[in-house]
Amino acid sequence: MTELKCSATTCSNNCHQLCVLNAIHVDGSTAEKPHETCCGSFTPKVDSVTNSTNRIDVRPETRIKCHARDCVYNKDMMCSADAVQISGHGADRSGDTECSTFKAK
Ligand code: SF4
Repeated sequence: MTELKCSATTCSNNCHQLCVLNAIHVDGSTAEKPHETCCGSFTPKVDSVTNSTNRIDVRPETRIKCHARDCVYNKDMMCSADAVQISGHGADRSGDTECSTFKAK
């Protein structure tokens, strides 16, 4: 599995720059550059809802289903990279995030 780090701390699944989900999906079926991808699992924090940001059992290993078929790490729509960085500091929505590890074929 891929070691995932994520700077989208405005996502309810983000815990100290790790993702609490065991699996995410990355969108960007026509992406040729990192900013044309985004994390499709991004869920904005809602103030009134208790979120996961204080969980202590979060592990970086994450399964990543990915639609960015023109990335060198995309193998049958799954990410094969050892480590992935999702960027999205201050993101309000999925489109504000990107897979910074994307590398065009
Ligand atoms: S590195 Fe490539 S295959 Fe892996 S999640 Fe990012 S865009 Fe998808």
